[in-house]
Parts: sequence; C-alpha cells; structure tokens
Amino acid sequence: MCPGYTRHIGRRSLLARTAAIGLLAGLSPVLAAVVHGASEPKNAVFRRVRPTDPQWPDEASWDRLNRDVGGHLTKVRSPLAACADGPDSASCRDALKDLRNPYFIGDQAGATQTSGWVDAWMSAPSVYAVAARTTADVVAAVNFARENRLRLVVKGGGHSYQGTSNAADSLLVWTRAMNDIVLHDAFVPQGCAVPGEPAVSVGAGAIWMHVYDAVTTKGGRYVVGGGCTTVGVAGLIQSGGFGSFSKQYGTAASWLLEAEVVTADGTVRIANACTNPELFWGLKGGGGGSLGVITRLTLKTHALPEWFGSTYATIEAASDDAFRRLIGAFVDFYAEHLFNPHWGESITIHRNNVLAITLVSQGLDQQQSASVWQSFRAWIAASPLEYRLTAAPLIGSIPARHWWDAEFLKRYVPRSVVSDPRPGALPGDMWWSGDAGQVGWFLHGFESTWLPASLLEKDQRGRLTDALFSATRQWWGVQLQFNKALGGAPDAAVAAARDTATNPAVLTAFALALVVGDGPPAYPGVPGHEPDLDAARLNARAIARAMQELRKVAPDPGSYVSESNYFETDWQRSYWGTNYPRLQAVKAKYDPDGLFFVHHGVGSEDWSTDGFTRLAGR
Ligand SMILES: Cc1cc2nc3c(=O)[nH]c(=O)nc-3n(C[C@H](O)[C@H](O)[C@H](O)COP(=O)(O)OP(=O)(O)OC[C@H]3O[C@@H](n4cnc5c(N)ncnc54)[C@H](O)[C@@H]3O)c2cc1C
Repeated sequence: MCPGYTRHIGRRSLLARTAAIGLLAGLSPVLAAVVHGASEPKNAVFRRVRPTDPQWPDEASWDRLNRDVGGHLTKVRSPLAACADGPDSASCRDALKDLRNPYFIGDQAGATQTSGWVDAWMSAPSVYAVAARTTADVVAAVNFARENRLRLVVKGGGHSYQGTSNAADSLLVWTRAMNDIVLHDAFVPQGCAVPGEPAVSVGAGAIWMHVYDAVTTKGGRYVVGGGCTTVGVAGLIQSGGFGSFSKQYGTAASWLLEAEVVTADGTVRIANACTNPELFWGLKGGGGGSLGVITRLTLKTHALPEWFGSTYATIEAASDDAFRRLIGAFVDFYAEHLFNPHWGESITIHRNNVLAITLVSQGLDQQQSASVWQSFRAWIAASPLEYRLTAAPLIGSIPARHWWDAEFLKRYVPRSVVSDPRPGALPGDMWWSGDAGQVGWFLHGFESTWLPASLLEKDQRGRLTDALFSATRQWWGVQLQFNKALGGAPDAAVAAARDTATNPAVLTAFALALVVGDGPPAYPGVPGHEPDLDAARLNARAIARAMQELRKVAPDPGSYVSESNYFETDWQRSYWGTNYPRLQAVKAKYDPDGLFFVHHGVGSEDWSTDGFTRLAGR
C-alpha cells in the first residue's frame, strides 16, 4: 500500500497472557489451532494432515526430504521464541526491535510483514520450511506435500495483508534465497516467434528494491513494481499489482512476459503467451498461491522518463463547511489537472479537516510540476481565514534514475529513507521512512473500493465530495490512491491490463479508495505487546461505516485483491469480476485437487477456512 499510509491507534493492550497464539504458535499449538479455526466441519471429505495426526510424516521421511533439497529443510522457529520466558530479557527486547526492520522480517521463515488482523488471522510459523535455492527444491517440496497430504504454504516477500503466506501446521516453500536478477536486451518468450524486447528475469524470492537497483539505478530503465521496497515480486505480480507510476505504465502483471512454475503435479512448466497461455493469464492478477509455485518471472522493462517527482502539502480547514469545500475544490482540480498519466500515489482526507497530499509525478521537471499546482495554490491562498498550509508545500523532481538510488537518497534526502541497520546488510537495503509504521502492524480493518472515473464528471463531483466528506465523519481518514486505477491511463496500458485476470473495473476507475486502521505490532503471549482486541473491533466497525458512505456512490465497484477486506463477502466478483469463471477453469486444469489453498483465493470456496478440509460435495 506504500508509501506512507499509517495510523497507529497506539493503545496498549490489557489482554491477559492466556491468549498465547500467533507468532508463539510453535509454543502453544492447542491455542493456535483454536485461533486458526481448526475445528472440522461435519461434512468433511478430505482432510490434510497435522503434526498431531498419526499420518504426519515420520522423522525418516523428513530426513529424505531434507536430502532431496540439499539440506535446506529447516524446522521453523518463531522469531519470538526468545520471549517465551518473559518480555524483559535482552534477547526478547532484541527480537522485538528486529521485528521493526522489514529486511529482518523477510529473512525469517517464521515471520510476516503484518503481524495479524483482528478476528482474521495471526502470524503463525509453519512446522517445516524448504528454504528453496533451486526449482528442483520446489519440485521436491510440492511432491512431498501432495504425497503426504500436507497443508502447503508459499512465501516470498511475506507482505500479504490477508495472511496468505503463513499457516500453522504447514510445510512452507520459502523462496527468499531464489533472488537472481538478470537483464535482457532482447528477450523472446520460449516457443514464441516474436521480436525480442528489453526485459528482466528475477527469481521468485526477489524484492522490488533489488529489482529497481538492477533495472533503474544500474540499468537506466523502468519496470512496473511496488511502491514499498520490500514487497516481493512474485506476490505483487500475481496480485495484479501497482507501482507509483502505474497511471502511465499500467499494472505490473500486464508486463509479465514469462514465468517458470511448478504446478501441483510437480511438473515444471513455462507459462507465456504461447505456452500454457491460460496458466500465464491466470498468474497475471489471479492472486498469489493458488495456481502453483512460481520459481522465475520475466518482466518487460520500459524506457525511463527523464524525471520522477513528488508533491507534498498539508492543508487544514477551519470548519467542517470549509473542509467540504476544500474536498470539492481538490476534486475539481484533480479532474482538470491531475487526471492524466503524469500523476500517481495518494491524498488522505482526514476527520480533523486536514487534506494531506502525497503525490508523485513522472515526466515533469520541477517547474512543470509547480505550474500545474498554481491554480490550486491560488484558490487556497484566496481564503487565509479558512485554509492554512501546515507546512510549505514541497514540489520537486529528480532525475528518474536516482529514484531508488540508495546512495543518492541517503546523501540528498536522508530523512526519506531508513537503512537496514544490521551488520553486513547490503548498502542499498532501505525502506521509505513513511512506510515504517506498516512494519509489523496489526490490522483492525482494511477496506478498499475502486471509484469509477464517471464520478469525476462535472455533474457527479458533488456526490463524490459528499461521500468523501461523510466517510471521514465515520473514521479518521480516507485515502485515494490514484495510481491503483487505470482511468486516465494511456490506451496501451489499459489494453495490456485488460488481458489480465484483474477485475476489469480497474480499467475505468480513477482511484482505489482505502479505509484502514491499525495498531502497533501485536504478539499474543508477549505481555505488553498483545493486541487490543476491543479497540480493534470498535475501529473495524467504524471503518465499515466509512466504507458504506463510499459505496453510496460506488455500489458495485470491485476491489484490489491484495489490499482489501479479509471479510469481503462477494470476493470472487470483487477481485476478478467477470474473469472468475475463467480463473476457475485454470485452477481445475492445473490444480484439480486443490493442493494450493489461500484465503479467498481461486477455488478456496471448496475448503474449510483454514484450508485443511475439503468440503463435502466439492
Ligand atoms: C507494506 C506493504 C506495502 C505494499 N505496497 C504495495 C504497492 O505499492 N503496490 C501493490 O500493488 N501492492 C502493494 N502491497 C500488496 C502486495 O503487493 C501484496 O500483498 C503481494 O502479494 C505481496 O507479495 P509478497 O511476495 O511480498 O508477499 P507473500 O506474503 O510472500 O505472498 C503473497 C501471496 O503470494 C503467494 N506467493 C508468494 N510467492 C509466490 C510464488 N513464488 N509462487 C506462488 N505464489 C506465491 C503467497 O502464497 C501469498 O498468497 C503492499 C503490501 C504491504 C504489506
């Protein structure tokens, strides 16, 4: 969701220690099972095996798997194991500190970037992980899981908000170490007779920061990927996925040229427009972890524009009426000046009558950007009693090649980034300081909806303004992420996204509206760090009310699969719209027995909520 959407409720929990679950699940399997909904439906017909079952593989079987994967099978340890004896030990304090570092989290088989979501899921380590180095390791893990009826989980960057890359009692395929990056001048997908084009091939465990370093900082080209530096490439591509500049370049999945995939039968397949084309299409936005394990992806790269830039401003209105007019003025200004491929990222409309502008631009130098903003600044300046800029607006551009150049950023805008502080960390391993709040956060609610571009037509803007204002009376803020919708994007970007599994609603929306609430990282069983469930549930209800206000103007809009409500009711239609039956056909062909299960993934309606039990009649 990056960059920079954070809201910390900040109340410390009063929960008793008895809720020892989640990251400590390894220490408390019974309670973990309760939280993860382990109770079996009565109509069970196929059940995966848990460590407590007699069919769980014996030590000799695990040893064989370990040999097959070159010694890369590990027993997964909770990163909070050090806290078992109490939160005050030095080792526990160190663990809690390390868990604020997204690179540290990414390096743990047993951790995830979100610590949990109230009444939805808590991060839980698998029993074993194959820390895969090669495609053959992945094949061995997939075969072992299928043959032994294990719950299989796949994790790359670990950034799933929905908790789909962790599960108690499972075997994890962990791709972190498969992170090779190779640039191509003229890539031709296998089996295709097409002209070669510039591209980058990445291992399934690569994170975007490393890809940007290779493609943009060193290679002088652009690849569409996530705003947050530590998000995994494989997860984002399968999500559909947006970058800060998607209003120009379209969705990340649109530019997938080829993937290598291990399917449920243990076969290594190439998927591209000419070979296994339906599987290829399904990987482009069909959601991670449902169709197979991707081991390598090749993405088209684009010419880099000369400039990338950003515009920051915070405007406070003196009254509710003035704020409503401010929202209306911004909607007018957006529709007339910013609704085009140059502008991305977001604004946040706050309950305390503050409008925060955190936008990025591409292809505009500083002067060009500044001149775009002139009329809006004049409008604010004309009413000094009603509007106050809480800080001078910042409008700037830098040569695009430096956008992810850690050395440049640390030198010229040091406060914008945080470096991985661990000894031996790569010098370029950094994250945006505005994203720090999302590291380990515990979600209270997270809802999103695409807002159709028709709402920007002159006669609709009043309705949109009223809905945005009303939503902020229910919750502290509504964020509009303009880069996560392709209304206003060039035809080529829209056409490419039309050939993906993502809900076609994205093509005609002008923004993805998000309403989110969170608290600090939550670690049940670690006194002083438990989630405040009462506050979280209260906030979840307020978030739902805020979203209801937006749905009054967008009744059937759809939602981005990886940034949406865990409890989405009509999720198949929301995420994929009319594409869902086609995705089901891909699933039936490549994973007919449902080895791959994720919450609200393709085919998951056939399974119990924990993915252990196939439902009767399915
Ligand atoms: C802090 C934060 C910032 C974000 N910023 C953005 C953003 O800027 N733009 C955007 O579009 N989205 C963003 N997202 C959403 C993000 O793109 C998705 O959650 C994405 O799925 C994360 O991928 P991952 O590999 O990091 O996560 P994981 O949790 O490892 O994986 C996500 C899903 O993909 C599956 N998966 C992972 N690797 C593979 C593989 N090799 N083969 C098959 N399945 C696999 C997992 O099983 C899981 O279901 C953000 C999320 C977070 C938490």
